[in-house]
Amino acid sequence: MIDPDRLALEFQTLLNIESPSKKEGKLAYYVATIFEALGYKCFFDRSSENTGSEVGNLIVKIPGTLPSNPIFFCAHLDTVGPCENPKIIFDKGIYRSDGKTILGADDKSGIAVLIEIGKVLKENVIPHPPIEFIFTTCEEIGLLGAKYLDYNLIDAKEGFVLDSENPVEVINAAPASYQFEIEVKGKSAHAGLEPEKGINAIHILSQILAGLSFGRIDEETTMNVGIIKGGNYVNIVPDYASSKGEMRSHSEEKLLNLQNLIQNQLDKVISSYPKTEDALPSGKVKFEKIFKAFNISLDDPLCKVVQKAGEKIGLNITFKRREGGSDANVFNENGLKCLILGTGMQKVHTTEEFIRLRDLIITANFVLEIIKIKGEMV
Ligand SMILES: [Zn+2]
Repeated sequence: MIDPDRLALEFQTLLNIESPSKKEGKLAYYVATIFEALGYKCFFDRSSENTGSEVGNLIVKIPGTLPSNPIFFCAHLDTVGPCENPKIIFDKGIYRSDGKTILGADDKSGIAVLIEIGKVLKENVIPHPPIEFIFTTCEEIGLLGAKYLDYNLIDAKEGFVLDSENPVEVINAAPASYQFEIEVKGKSAHAGLEPEKGINAIHILSQILAGLSFGRIDEETTMNVGIIKGGNYVNIVPDYASSKGEMRSHSEEKLLNLQNLIQNQLDKVISSYPKTEDALPSGKVKFEKIFKAFNISLDDPLCKVVQKAGEKIGLNITFKRREGGSDANVFNENGLKCLILGTGMQKVHTTEEFIRLRDLIITANFVLEIIKIKGEMV
């Protein structure tokens, strides 16, 4: 039923349509035209007002042949850079770029699979529940499309995000992520003439950071400091320094503990740092939630469906947790229970990105089988 040649051709077409974050318009309209031609209802939400993209998220509704709960599938429209003027090379069953751009299989492999599924469902009599496709914008710049998705337009309460690497590894858990920014204020003074009148913000900040642990904190938690700023002249005591970092964990509680740890460390260093006659050092830390963790139990019916679909077509499906965030974090947070499926894309976000056509075909068959199993369960 899946037509491998047609899938390959469509995938290649998608790879040639540039779609960096916020400039997904051309790709989104192309994809919408295909689904419209198949007779499916397509529309955009109004998320572009908040994401800054040219277009909203594209939603496609495929009516069910069975009266049952709808399911959704999602792929994101945008890619990271560099992506200008891609030259796609297909050799020995593998798609690559010429090394000057990313390939864009992340996540056009997911889009290609869903287009093929749309066609197969049109051409064949396959009992299936109502299906919704969600094509999000701005995934690569903070999951913005998913964050501003109009959830009132989505009827499904469970589904799948096609946005991972290995087609036989299904992601059922992902960590939460927070970013932090530490700011320290001191007092400037001439470093040679009157250093005792200054309070060195860089020195304070470095003491705060030196008292914290970074890297792998435990088996499910990481923390990184990635940016540090402060000072303008070597002969001036700097009055300001700041630093940004992030923390991830599969346990929200551990992230709260880390936040308390940073706050306490900051308070301790600030309060013990020598004051001058007329000035006190001060500091503050801000935390921003980037995404929430999710963890779908292996006993959940959604995992069972995936397991069964895999068995049916001879795939040995395993479940894994992943360390990055994706639209699935935001969907799960908004009550759309979902797993992440791999499409075969590899070395994503690099100019060495590649994908085997074989894996793309496996993914399409796997998704179709999931839909069939869902139909049989009604
Ligand atoms: Zn992706």
